[in-house]
Amino acid sequence: MKHSGFRKPFVLSALCAAMLLPGVSAWAVTDQEILDDVKTTDQIVTNGMGLQGQRYSPLSILTTDNVKDLRPVWTLSFGGEKQRGQQAQPLIKDGVMYVTASYSRVFAVDARTGKELWQYDARLPDDIRPCCDVINRGVALYGDLVIFGTLDAKLVALNKDTGKVVWRKNVADHKAGYSITAAPLVVNGKLITGVSGGEFGVVGKIEAYDPKNGELLWTRPTVEGHMGYVYKDGKKIENGISGGEAGKTWPGDLWKTGGAAPWLGGYYDPETNLLLFGTGNPAPWNSHLRPGDNLYSSSRLALNPDDGSITWHFQTTPHDGWDFDGVNELVSFNYQEGGKTIKAAATADRNGFFYVLDRTNGKFIRGFPFVDKITWAKGLDKNGRPIYDDSNRPGAPSGADKGKSVFSAPAFLGAKNWMPMAYSQDTGLFYVPSNEWGMDIWNEDIAYKKGAAYLGSGFTIKPLNEDYIGVLRAIDPKTGKEVWRQKNYAPLWGGVMTTKGNLVFTGNPEGFLQAFNAKTGDKVWEFQTGSGVLGSPVTWEMDGEQYVSVLSGWGGAVPLWGGEVAKRVKNFNQGGMLWTFKLPKDLVAKH
Ligand code: CA
Repeated sequence: MKHSGFRKPFVLSALCAAMLLPGVSAWAVTDQEILDDVKTTDQIVTNGMGLQGQRYSPLSILTTDNVKDLRPVWTLSFGGEKQRGQQAQPLIKDGVMYVTASYSRVFAVDARTGKELWQYDARLPDDIRPCCDVINRGVALYGDLVIFGTLDAKLVALNKDTGKVVWRKNVADHKAGYSITAAPLVVNGKLITGVSGGEFGVVGKIEAYDPKNGELLWTRPTVEGHMGYVYKDGKKIENGISGGEAGKTWPGDLWKTGGAAPWLGGYYDPETNLLLFGTGNPAPWNSHLRPGDNLYSSSRLALNPDDGSITWHFQTTPHDGWDFDGVNELVSFNYQEGGKTIKAAATADRNGFFYVLDRTNGKFIRGFPFVDKITWAKGLDKNGRPIYDDSNRPGAPSGADKGKSVFSAPAFLGAKNWMPMAYSQDTGLFYVPSNEWGMDIWNEDIAYKKGAAYLGSGFTIKPLNEDYIGVLRAIDPKTGKEVWRQKNYAPLWGGVMTTKGNLVFTGNPEGFLQAFNAKTGDKVWEFQTGSGVLGSPVTWEMDGEQYVSVLSGWGGAVPLWGGEVAKRVKNFNQGGMLWTFKLPKDLVAKH
């Protein structure tokens, strides 16, 4: 076991006790296992099923032919009175599943039987400030530790056998509006996390910690003008001002409360040795208070994992006025063109445009709309910068009077929100969970007050169509062509996964986990889980069989912020269940 890095006596005794438990094997997730996660099929040790976040499995035991016989083998309730949105992706190591639930809870579960092995509850203070439900998106595994972020902005490392706390670290002040909802990322022995809180005027930051003991290694603010630091041998070393001079793209002191929270976490591309993160809206929402591009809000950032320096940035919505957070995942992929391998990365932004970038330098390759209606911009220029329709920017307030209200599409919950898309190495297509909606939006007067909502805007989200909001789309990143679409009545809010078996899995708020033919979009299977599916499905191999798991539990941002859409889904029931499926053994033999 690798525990030489732990110094505290109680930690050593906890680990030694774990080693003595019957059936507990020497277990340690290594950097190499994390790098290899994209190709190993018997474990899942990264959020994204691989560091690049493609959510593609090379497993092909399950196919479009036999998936009709996929059925549940066990299910586990997260219990208690605490339900609400369940948005995590499970991780699996040595037959044990590690998953987070709402209200900053972690469960370890026997992956064969569904038996709960332990549960950790972060016991949150009463004054947490989550903007968008009490959700969490999953754990990181490293060595013998299970590590996750909490709604009161702490990182907590638990012993994988006992669930006991090994270390706990305060990342930011939850009373100022900070929280953590993303799964942490482990890269080359460093634990990387962002923070949430753009709706409270926090200063976004990305940080690296030593996963063995929680020591801070570097911090990189994501608002122009703030200094980054590297911590080495007990010393704090300045590592450059983020984005140049304070106030260059911000007026006055607004950069001091500029938002740009990298709340969705990020991914890592081993081929370029770059961390790829996104940043949220500039604060406040009222754009008339902050003329300028407001770097690095609503952007994608590539960072050096060694010291957190910014290698390149690409801003999807400069001077955002619609809450178009730029946090959506930037997924690395390679494609062939003109006899060359293009090292690209793709993202489907809140603002309705799909971007393909050169991930070696952040240069714009191409971009196109991936939803049917975009009103705020007329298109993208040759550098990928939006061509604004100024008449669709909500107007400036005048004293106590609110500014001119406009109807904008997409709505601020995004043409696509947090829910991760998947990329198939077989079809070369991205499978994008999108939503067709718009909003009335107007601006109001606002002043910053620590810990209070800092928007300066009002809004009502509205559906664009009577019969559907959600659209699962298969998109060709080389041409912008939509290859197929599947409509859904409620807005889609769950992650997507694709497999070598020509399958695409995702869930819907109506409660169904569904599988589609990756080439044609035909629905080939579905199962009712009892509550809305907002989690990200995973698949792995155990005892020669292919398993699929997903969380079920309706909640998230839509019921809280969705305006007229929230009314449409108000009768959907909450839940909190972990489901696991496989084919019956005798049926596999027949195929
Ligand atoms: Ca936001």
